[in-house]
Amino acid sequence: MVQPFSKLGIESLPEPLTNTRLCEKCQCSLTCSLLQKSSDDPISHLRTSKEMSEFVDLTTIHLSPTHLEYAKKWLKWSILEWETAKRKKKLNDIFMDAPEKREENGNCLANVRLIKCEEIGSQNLHLSFSKRSGNLPHGIFEKGEVVTVSTRTSYAILMGPIISYESQVVTIRVDKFNLRLNNFYHLDKYEGYSTYGLHLGNIVGLMDATPYSTKIRELVIDKRTPTFVTLAKEDVLKVGSIIKELEGNQARAVVKGLTCKDYLLIQGLPGSGKTTTIVALVRCLLRLGRSVLLTAYTNSAVDNMVIRLKKFISEDQILRVASNSVHPDIRPLTLESKIASLSSQRDVVFEETRRILEKTPVIATTCLMASSNSLFLWRRFDVCIVDEASLALQTAVIKPISLANSFVLVGDSRQLAPLVLNNAAKSQGMTVSLLEHLAESCVEGALISLNKQFRMNKQICGLSSTLFYENTLICANMEIENRVVEIGSQENVPFNLSNNG
Ligand code: SF4
Repeated sequence: MVQPFSKLGIESLPEPLTNTRLCEKCQCSLTCSLLQKSSDDPISHLRTSKEMSEFVDLTTIHLSPTHLEYAKKWLKWSILEWETAKRKKKLNDIFMDAPEKREENGNCLANVRLIKCEEIGSQNLHLSFSKRSGNLPHGIFEKGEVVTVSTRTSYAILMGPIISYESQVVTIRVDKFNLRLNNFYHLDKYEGYSTYGLHLGNIVGLMDATPYSTKIRELVIDKRTPTFVTLAKEDVLKVGSIIKELEGNQARAVVKGLTCKDYLLIQGLPGSGKTTTIVALVRCLLRLGRSVLLTAYTNSAVDNMVIRLKKFISEDQILRVASNSVHPDIRPLTLESKIASLSSQRDVVFEETRRILEKTPVIATTCLMASSNSLFLWRRFDVCIVDEASLALQTAVIKPISLANSFVLVGDSRQLAPLVLNNAAKSQGMTVSLLEHLAESCVEGALISLNKQFRMNKQICGLSSTLFYENTLICANMEIENRVVEIGSQENVPFNLSNNG
């Protein structure tokens, strides 16, 4: 389903046939039928004959009007988004054009100086850049847009969202990395341009007649109430020691994750230990002999979870699937590394590769890689866990969750929403993540809020809690409540303020 969209481009789709003799065996019949059912702009050129209308009705007979409405809405939004991205993209090619040329095209901030590097928690940095000449070009980036950081010789060293874009300073959030203060860099818009076909393919995949897609439609579109079972006594004994390490709500979330038959939502407020909870859940699932598809929207979030997880499990138990380079600490967990040490005999390599792909209980990858890698055409899992679920479009999350018998979405709907460029799609609701969509009507017990945080003292926490979390965010204990940074001397300042412009 994905291939036709990714290769064709929507404006070049031909009109459907009027005679349906060939359509019976066509691999794209569901895609074609859904597009014809979505007859509003911008695809109204797809006119149909009576014979074709009957074929379309037959092909989509397993779908209710509500399912068709969901497909129509998301096909329309995805196509609008694709068209907008194409218009904005122009000649945004960081490999072909000089930074100054890319800036002229409105897709890059060239030659910006790194003036400040601020640590945010243990994993992230806020990097602030400014132009030597003073003011930044107006409106080139918007808050929330994702950019890459490059030099003239190294491309896309880092990637992250824009936290603020002021007249003279732009600040982005990235994973921890060693960039030199006062050096010059280029910030380019990142557009996952080739991914639009995957989003469209995922909508079509959701509408197919398999039992897996049928179940996801029931849960996501019909909003069937999720069900839970009781954990058997012998299973409690197997996982008890892991759960005891956790704070109250984290422990509840893990128990719920082990007992859910359909789905669980975890709203992880800032500093509340989302990754700790995910890691504990995966360890418990492994002890119970269950397989896990561990995903997130970005590669850095996947790497972060894997780095934490690998302290507790053996390398045999996890495989990191990625198309780009992964964090050096987890490189041994990729398929390439795992088979690199084998003899060059083809049979041996083939057998070992098959064993790894079939038997490794935890596969870690991004949501979009789960939509495109051929491994996921045949491998299924007991549980899919999606981190950053509030950051991803519904169409990105649908595919990984349909690969498992139950799923757990983890995120924070009060933080960054999915990035949508098209204003019409944005205003009509495309930015509502699956986490937010399901949380709106979720039953008691299927949504756990991790509201005890370990990061901020009482004053800072209180501000955040009052402004964004209706006073629900609290400190995990007295020690956190009263924590302060002692700045007795210049040595205690985490970075050199005098270098920060
Ligand atoms: S189903 Fe659609 S795409 Fe396939 S042969 Fe028929 S008209 Fe062409």
